[in-house]
Amino acid sequence: MNSPPEAAASVSLDLDDKWTYMKTRGLAGWEVFPSYLEVAVPRILRFLEERKLRITFFIVGQDAALPRNAPLLRSIARAGHEIGNHSFHHEPWLHLYSHTEIEREVALAEQHIEGVTGRRVRGFRGPGFSTSTAVADVLAARGYRYDASRLPTFLGPLARAYYLMTSNLDWKERRRRGRLYGRWRDGFGSLRPHRSERSSLVDIPVTTVPIVRTPFHLSYLIWLSGHSPAGARQYLNMALASCRACHIAPSFLLHPLDFLQLSEAPELGFFPGMTLPLHRKLEVADSALAGIAARYRIFTLEEHALAAADSAGSGASEWTLQPAHEAAAQPPSLPEGKIR
Ligand SMILES: [Zn+2]
Repeated sequence: MNSPPEAAASVSLDLDDKWTYMKTRGLAGWEVFPSYLEVAVPRILRFLEERKLRITFFIVGQDAALPRNAPLLRSIARAGHEIGNHSFHHEPWLHLYSHTEIEREVALAEQHIEGVTGRRVRGFRGPGFSTSTAVADVLAARGYRYDASRLPTFLGPLARAYYLMTSNLDWKERRRRGRLYGRWRDGFGSLRPHRSERSSLVDIPVTTVPIVRTPFHLSYLIWLSGHSPAGARQYLNMALASCRACHIAPSFLLHPLDFLQLSEAPELGFFPGMTLPLHRKLEVADSALAGIAARYRIFTLEEHALAAADSAGSGASEWTLQPAHEAAAQPPSLPEGKIR
């Protein structure tokens, strides 16, 4: 008799560069694209390599368009990680764009990301969890497999209120950011990956704790750990146990700032958890990934999307190892003539 299938989870990282935070915050100087990628990327790749993890990196098109970043971005693809599209301009008001502007934004990012990494992009995550039906339609028309832009939480408006309260933006800029980190009703959105009703695009949210819908991505755990390391560990354990009980395969999110200390990005002291020393952040990262790896096999988001699409017909909710494992052994097959 076969042993029961092992549960699986996916991990991704939004490769937000220093300038993206400065831009969203309205800080002068972002226009010359100040960067910490040279420090962050090798450190993150080493961290993943040491733990034999292959994940999805969502790259910002503007960073791919800068020749100075080419070797760093290629090193991510060479390490075997999946490459996704994180928009070109990284504007969390993407949902305000017209259809033509969305098309241009997605295509431009795609062109530069694929050009520099040599990998076909099949997944998208909107900046600041910004997405819309129009974005999903553009992604589906361009042959994307999944959209990983949603964060189903009720805390989005609170995070936005804190952010706007502590920034010096004028009313026009504040209005643009009126949906930053999502709306109250986003907390009611499904936690399960599912096929769109309008296309074959798979919608994969960043997982939040079932029922209470509080986040548990790494930046959040680091922030909690600044208050109580033991509390942060217990919170993650509770989150993973809740996912297990509800048959939800978690999709866990990382950011470069989880791997950087304040002296490496002094302009971003406003980011929660930035005062924590690097070794403490790395301890939280290590403990979180170890906690997830102890319960789940970790895959990329594209593998997650393929498995979720496969299991949709059977009514299965938690995706099992079978399709994901095959996908992991051999990268998902792509249409002929597409670059890898
Ligand atoms: Zn981002």
